[in-house]
Amino acid sequence: SSRGGQEDAENSLRELAALAETAGAQVLDGVLQRRAHPDPATYLGKGKAQELAEIVAAEGADTVIADTELAPSQRRALEDVVKVKVIDRTAVILDIFSQHAKSREGKAQVELAQLEYLLPRLRGWGESMSRQAGGQVGAGGAGMGSRGPGETKIELDRRRINTRMAKLRAQIKTFAPAREAKRANRKRGEVPSVAIAGYTNAGKSSLLNRLTGSEALVQNQLFATLDTTVRHAETADGRRFTYADTVGFVRNLPHQLVEAFRSTFEEVAESDVIVHVVDGSHPEPTAQLRTVRDVIAEVDAQGIPEIVVFNKSDLIDDSQRLVLHGLAPDAVFVSARTGEGIEQLQERIDATLPVPDREVTAVVP
Ligand code: GDP
Repeated sequence: SSRGGQEDAENSLRELAALAETAGAQVLDGVLQRRAHPDPATYLGKGKAQELAEIVAAEGADTVIADTELAPSQRRALEDVVKVKVIDRTAVILDIFSQHAKSREGKAQVELAQLEYLLPRLRGWGESMSRQAGGQVGAGGAGMGSRGPGETKIELDRRRINTRMAKLRAQIKTFAPAREAKRANRKRGEVPSVAIAGYTNAGKSSLLNRLTGSEALVQNQLFATLDTTVRHAETADGRRFTYADTVGFVRNLPHQLVEAFRSTFEEVAESDVIVHVVDGSHPEPTAQLRTVRDVIAEVDAQGIPEIVVFNKSDLIDDSQRLVLHGLAPDAVFVSARTGEGIEQLQERIDATLPVPDREVTAVVP
């Protein structure tokens, strides 16, 4: 269809490649297939699937990643053709989230998302597999008594997964008050906070390092920062405040991860200033800008002053600069790499942070 659609698909594939690399894979090649509706049987269609099988064989790939969620039957049909493991974008993102979740809450949320993803996929393997595995089911002892007559392994697995999911949900509920309390404490201490938001790879960690002079983890990887890190800083005139590096945005976030993402992102709603970092060298800054602002509105943070930062100015040419300026006239251009514009940004942050209430005493003569 449209050229915009084509470009969008290419950008999405490029991000998928970056995601796969972040998950630890070595990316060999991409096959871009546009069709109005995916093939119900193999997703790609027979001819393309065959073509893909040839690439897989020639390159010696051991995995194919589809840039969309596949139905279990599509996945199996495609595996039959390409003869290697086929996974989808969601599986890759889940894998990265599980590698990078550090807090107990983050881990619980990711496990919940993984189980949510797994549950409907158990069905696909059907009865034959459950009969094969039937003998081992009771081995652990846990499920023995709960196993009714004629119950299959899959039903049992499904029940176990549901139990585990209920437990995780309950656990996650208990985390929220602690998070609230922690935030409230910071509020009570009246230390204002600056939230750094934006897409993964926009340069949030690099920028935070520039702003605070600290050695936060910087990787050319997505999701280096799934859990929020908070750093202390001071304005030029000595007012203390904190920086919070928030979880990065990603295109087509799997629905199973939306909750995990949102609860982490909620922190933004408690901040006093939002520094919204955009990769100025990115081919589609408009969409990124809009998505971040949509989620900011969703967590009721739209009233908080926002400073838009176009990062990677070392890679931006004059015409791109003009386009970006049109998108956000008040934006600050910086390069976390060269340090360009950092001072200006610091001044903007200082000026935007609330001035603490001082006790005012009226002196009556
Ligand atoms: P985050 O995911 O938003 O925290 O992004 P990172 O800070 O991890 O940066 C992602 C990648 O962009 C890394 O490879 C950085 O070295 C690179 N990067 C960050 N800022 C700049 C910049 O100003 N210019 C250039 N050229 N690269 C940058």
